[in-house]
Amino acid sequence: MLLAHLTRRRLEREAAALLRRRRVAASPCAPLQTVEDGRGRSRQLLNFGSNDYLGLASHPVIAAALAEGAQRWGAGSGASHLVTGHSLAHARLEGELARLLSPWVPDAAALLFCSGFMANLALLTTLGDGEAAIFADKLNHASLVDGGLLAAARMRRYPHGRLDLLDAMLRDCEQPIRLIVTDAVFSMDGDIAPLPALLELAERHDAWLIIDDAHGFGVLGPNGEGALAHYDLSSTRLIYMGTLGKAAGVAGAFVAAHPAIVDALVQSGRSYIYTTAMPPALAHALSASLKLITGEEGASRRRQLATLTAALRDRLSGLIARDPGRGWQLADSATPIQPLIVGDNAAALALASTLDAAGLWVPAIRPPTVPANTARLRITLSAAHTLDDVERLSTTLAACRPGGNGHA
Ligand SMILES: *Cc1c(COP(=O)(O)O)cnc(C)c1O
Repeated sequence: MLLAHLTRRRLEREAAALLRRRRVAASPCAPLQTVEDGRGRSRQLLNFGSNDYLGLASHPVIAAALAEGAQRWGAGSGASHLVTGHSLAHARLEGELARLLSPWVPDAAALLFCSGFMANLALLTTLGDGEAAIFADKLNHASLVDGGLLAAARMRRYPHGRLDLLDAMLRDCEQPIRLIVTDAVFSMDGDIAPLPALLELAERHDAWLIIDDAHGFGVLGPNGEGALAHYDLSSTRLIYMGTLGKAAGVAGAFVAAHPAIVDALVQSGRSYIYTTAMPPALAHALSASLKLITGEEGASRRRQLATLTAALRDRLSGLIARDPGRGWQLADSATPIQPLIVGDNAAALALASTLDAAGLWVPAIRPPTVPANTARLRITLSAAHTLDDVERLSTTLAACRPGGNGHA
């Protein structure tokens, strides 16, 4: 019964061009990556799909710090943070993260999580109790949606960026505790949330602002401190969540917030309490990554990323202007996430597979990850790319026949 049911569901997905597949990489995360083709052969692709924005995932200094951390701390933490798994390596990293964010989150304390997904679940279920109401942008990441659904608080979602509607919702709210929650950089669109206006709303309506900076931490701000530094916004009402597996190149996440909020997460965040602490060796490697991010090397990698982003936008907008008949749209994004919106699911898949045949790995993103009829190629750039890489992607896209698969 179950297996027949699952087969039927899978066939439906397939018919809607929504089947998801994994691909096996046979080399470290880098612009040039070897993948297995499933028939025992491998080939090299130019990767435009990772979130390794600074090219740190296989940086030798961080890999060496990971090895050194393993020499010093072994492989595993052995238990959750509240039992016996909390180490000096974790505590030191939390101190570094708290100091890094403290200009924008005054007196911040920081708390490490194994992943951003778990950090968001803990935040929304802990703060979003029966006294609270949650207000969420409709394009927020799945982990924020799920956190809001698990929370006792009522969650209301406002259309992407519609602060006028959010304002009205807040005005109507009778709950004493109000939480506004938003991606800082929207993960499938690349646009940056209007955080100053959101904070102003939070202040006016006595609300708190939870910011998920998965794609901004390391990338935005003068020293990679993220979206708050980018806008130079400071307030105790800010609750910051940054992830450590994207630009930081390792794994994990952290919350930086008022110490009472961090303490509440330790007391009752179930996805904090009931899980094994990340290996201390990872925390050790992350301290090395933070040093790179905030130092001269991080700054030069962010400059390279900005150069590549401008070059790609220039090439793609030229291409779209010359041939509007393709129906492609370049999202309005100033970040290394540069989605090319195609619309139809099958057309997006066909375009991704044409690129694949040319040796380019660009993921097609389809509903429900993005709204219906906005299937897209989610092009992401890394500081490890070169201008030649960007050139190769643009030239290959220019040669793709619009509607060549009969679906567009
Ligand atoms: C990736 C991502 C997460 C989840 O972080 P992980 O550490 O990968 O679990 C949360 N929010 C946003 C916006 C993300 O893009």
